[in-house]
Amino acid sequence: AKPDWLSRAIARAGVMPQDEAQEAIQAGRVTVNGRVVKQPLAPVPPGATVRVDGAALPTAAPTRVLAFHKPAELLTSTVGQHRVGTVYEVLLPQLPPDLARFTWHAVGRLDRGTTGLLLFTNDEKLVAHVTSPDTRLPKRYVATVFSEADEEKVEPLRQGLKLEDGPVRPATVKLRDAHTVEVTVTEGRNHQVKRMLGAVGLPVRALHREAVGGVQLDVAESGYRLLTDAEIAEGL
Ligand code: URA
Repeated sequence: AKPDWLSRAIARAGVMPQDEAQEAIQAGRVTVNGRVVKQPLAPVPPGATVRVDGAALPTAAPTRVLAFHKPAELLTSTVGQHRVGTVYEVLLPQLPPDLARFTWHAVGRLDRGTTGLLLFTNDEKLVAHVTSPDTRLPKRYVATVFSEADEEKVEPLRQGLKLEDGPVRPATVKLRDAHTVEVTVTEGRNHQVKRMLGAVGLPVRALHREAVGGVQLDVAESGYRLLTDAEIAEGL
C-alpha cells in the first residue's frame, strides 16, 4: 500500500476535511513524528504518529492478510501466540517488525495433517466474513484418496449429501486421476471434506488446500506472503 499524503491522512482519519487539513498543515499546526511539517503533500511513513494541534490521529490499523503455506503436523489454533506445535510457531518468527506488531488470527482452520493455504489477518471482521457460510466463498481442496475414485462415486458430492450434522451444499468435484480428487466447497465445517469423501467410500489419505476465494497458494511450504489490498478486495 502506498503511504497517504499528509492532508489526506488527516481527512481519512475523520479529523477534518482535506481542505481544512491543508490549511492546518500550512499554518504549522501539524506534526509528523514530533516535527512540524508544512507540506500538505508530504508522504506519511507507515506507522508514523501524526498530531493536529497536539492530538494524535486515531489510527485504525489497515486490514492485512497473510497467505501461509501450512505444512503438515502443525495445529491451527485461532489465537496468535508463539505456541509450540501451532502454525504460529512457524509463521510469527518470519515476520518483519512492521507485520509482527499485529495480532494475527487464523482465518478458519486446517486439520493438523492438512497442508496448503491458510490465511491470517489482523482484522477479526474479515475472519467472520470469510468463514461465514453465508459468504459462500469457495475453498478448493485436493484430496488423495485410498480407494479408486470414479465419476459415479463422486456424483453424490455434486448433488449435496447429508452428513451427521446435516446436509452440506453441493460441491464442485473434478477427478484429476483415480486417487486424486479436487473438491471445492462453499462452507467450512469441521473435517468437512474428509467427511464428505468418507461418506462416498473414498477415505482421505492426504488433504491440501489450493485456494480460498480468489487467493491461490503460491508460496513454498512454511513460507508466507502479504496480500495486496487489491487481492483482499477482489479475492475475499
Ligand atoms: N476439510 C477437512 O476435512 N479438513 C480440513 O483441514 C479442511 C477441510
